[in-house]
Order: sequence, then C-alpha cells, then structure tokens
Amino acid sequence: MTKIDLATLTIKKAHEAMKKGEFSAVELAQEYLDVISKKNKEINAYLEVYDDVLEQAQKADEMIRDGKGTILTGIPFAIKDNILIKGREASSASKILEGYEATYNATAIGKLKKEGAVFLGRANMDEFAMGGSTENSAFGVTKNPHDIERVAGGSSGGSAAAVAMDGALAALGSDTGGSVREPAAFCGLVGLKPTYGSVSRYGVMSLGSSLDQIGPFGKTVEDTEIIFKAIHGQDPLDSTTIAEDTYESQRVGQKKPIIGIPTFFEQSPLFKKNVEKFKSLGYEVCEIELEKAASAIPIYYIINFAEASSNLSRFDGVRYGLHEGGKDGIEDYFLTRGKGFGKEVRRRILLGTYVLSSGYYDAYYNRAIALRKVLTQDFLKAFQKVDIILTPTTPGPAFKIGERTSDPVAMYLEDIFTVTENLTGMPAMSIPAGIEEVDGKKLPLGIQLTARHGDEKTLFEAGKDFLGEIE
Ligand code: GLN
Repeated sequence: MTKIDLATLTIKKAHEAMKKGEFSAVELAQEYLDVISKKNKEINAYLEVYDDVLEQAQKADEMIRDGKGTILTGIPFAIKDNILIKGREASSASKILEGYEATYNATAIGKLKKEGAVFLGRANMDEFAMGGSTENSAFGVTKNPHDIERVAGGSSGGSAAAVAMDGALAALGSDTGGSVREPAAFCGLVGLKPTYGSVSRYGVMSLGSSLDQIGPFGKTVEDTEIIFKAIHGQDPLDSTTIAEDTYESQRVGQKKPIIGIPTFFEQSPLFKKNVEKFKSLGYEVCEIELEKAASAIPIYYIINFAEASSNLSRFDGVRYGLHEGGKDGIEDYFLTRGKGFGKEVRRRILLGTYVLSSGYYDAYYNRAIALRKVLTQDFLKAFQKVDIILTPTTPGPAFKIGERTSDPVAMYLEDIFTVTENLTGMPAMSIPAGIEEVDGKKLPLGIQLTARHGDEKTLFEAGKDFLGEIE
C-alpha cells in the first residue's frame, strides 16, 4: 500500500478509497496512530489513545466487505473527554473525574458507532469545558499545531488540534459559548455549533444546559455536514431535542442567501476581503443593527456560571470519581471539591452560586434571562431581512500560551462573537477565512456564519460556496 496522504484526505475521499479497496480501515487507522505517536507528546491533543483502535477498524472493514458500510464506516475520530463512550474513561479533563468510566454511550456516540466510525481516543479540553484555550485542563495545555507557542483554542482544543495535526480525520467537541467554533478558527478547520436541540445532549457532561450542544469538526464543510447529519435528530433521552420540521425555512434571498453584517465591531482588512469574496460570488450584503450584541458577554457569563454551579453540584465525592475523607459528610464534600476542581471551575461555582443567591437573583440572574430574550428578538428581527449573519469567529488569531491566564476577563472577551448563538439557540459555523502572519508563523483565522434556527442547510450551502467546495 502506498502511504495515504492524510493532509488532503477528507471523509468523502477516505470513504470512496475504502469502498474501492485502495486502502482498508485498518491501514487508515494505523496511519493515524503513527502520526499520533510522533506528534501527540508535543501537541497533547489526546489524553488517551485507545488500545483497541485496530480492532474497531477491523470491524469497520468487515462492515464494508459485507456491503453494510456507510459514509462514516472506518472514519477515525477524536472525541472530546466530556462525551461518554461506554466502558471508557471520561474525565472532562478534571482531577475530580480522573479514572471515571462511562456506563453508557452518549446518543451521538451510539449513532457514530452504529455507522462503524472508529474512535482513536479522548481529546483534551478545558476542565468541564470552561475556557477558551485548553489551558484550564488538569492534564496540561494543548498546543496549536500551526505554532506550538500558541493555544489551540478551547474548550475543545484537543479535538481541533487532533484534526489539525493529522492525528484524526474528524472530531466531536461541545460548544456552550464557542468551544467548537473558536478552536476550529485557531486551527484552520470547519466547526459547527448546531441549533439548540438538534443534537442530543444525552451523555455529554453538562456545563450550561440551556447553552450546550455537541458539534462536529471537519476539514471541509462537506465533512462537517456529513457528521452533523449522522448525529442530529430527536432523542427520547433528551427532552430538549427537536423534531426535524420544528422550524420552517423562510429564506429571503431568492437565488443566494442574503448576508447581514452587524455594525458593533470594526472590520479588519482580512474580514473586508472576505466580504468582497462573498459579493463576487453573487451574494447581496447589507448592514444590520444588533443592539444587544455588545452586551452578550455579561449575559452569557451570568447564565453560564449559574447553570455550571447547579450542574456541578453532582460532583460530591460520593457518586463519581475522587473521594477525600474528612470527619463528616460536609467535610468530605469540601475536601473533595477543593482538591478535585481547578481554579476556573471553583471561580464559576462561586460566582454562579452568588448570582443565584436570594439577595442577588433578581439583580443578576433574572436580568440576564430577560436580556437573553431581548438579544434573541434582535437576531430574529435581523433575520427578517437577511439569511446569514457574518462576523469574525474570534477577535484575532490564536494567542500565546500563558498570555491571558492571569486575566479571566480578557479570556472571556475572546468569546464576543460566539456566545450570542448559544444564547439565541441559533446555528453557527466557523470556516477558514485566511491567514495572518505573526512572528513568521502563519496563523489561521475564521469567519462565522449564523443562520435562523434549524437552518444549518444555508450555512453548509454558503460555506461550500465560499470555500469552493461546489464544483
Ligand atoms: N469560552 C467559553 C466559556 O469559557 C465557552 C466555553 C464552551 O463553549 N464550552 O464559557
């Protein structure tokens, strides 16, 4: 067998090659394992590489041989460490869950398994998905394969770096406020945050239950679409999932979707160039007002902290993972949580408890909930005249490791473009949109396309058009 060119490989190409017998799933998996063993020590994309990868691939080969293969059979994935795979460790990159073994499959995992996808290992992340740089992992930072002095983004930094270093063909992450889109932008990939409720949250560890969605990473829009189609759908195990026809399509653009650009940010030269590209492809582009968009950060962080503090109360040292013994149950609880949770997690639990406390509930939590509704109305109003809202994915390219760790607010501000879609529940996708050269290193940048609820189709269509994926 000739060596497989992993750098240009896509899901579709791999699928066709395996179907034709140009290479097998076992050979493909072995190539990825070789790359991982060469690069993972430095990049730290994986916290664990599974020891049964070749057996999984062998089963995929049998499916293909028996004519039971689908587009995802034999495709090697990296899976974020907060998504459960039965019988395997899932720690959310936290000491409190170190060694915890999942007792069931997440719905998205069950769907991929059924198709014969191959799981290479569990990917590093910010502890409990709190962060935007993977520096909050209890097991070391993930480095950006484009420049190892820089972060890969977060919280799904391991998933993105795994694909970017050619250590996986695709990956799953979770996105509560940008955790798929931001690392996708920093690593030169496509990343999708689906409409809230379109992908089941069953089996993904909760951070902010009203914000969380599992999202796919791919090297192309087409790959990302293939994964989305495989994992989405209503699920009796997650009552917040929605039926296929929940939202009607109401596109206003006749031939091509109309693009709206909010006025609350200053456009960089690269962003302007990308807007020109859309125009030259025949897209109508106009300005839109999103009055509340600039307030999205405080709204998001109050809701995120509140939901996190409530969700993480289950880690009590009794039911899961770490247990530290004190003189009584209360002391056990303090000792276990004090030792098991990292700094950012403790900060969010404290602040979340504060905004939910009786004296401050109205001033903070209720106000944030009210403003979330106003923000959503702003977006719905904009979507009366446009089909896509276009922004950068992040304010700039990947920053240096350690650059923002002492200033949590600077880290939170990185999320200015991404948290809004989690607050409104709308789907958004980051696509590669150019390179910025910094200190002689070529750093990828992304642009973000947001659509109406349930309208991932428009995102895929415009994304493919922009990246020249439509022949
Ligand atoms: N950076 C955001 C936060 O820290 C988003 C995290 C996420 O999407 N999981 O909350």
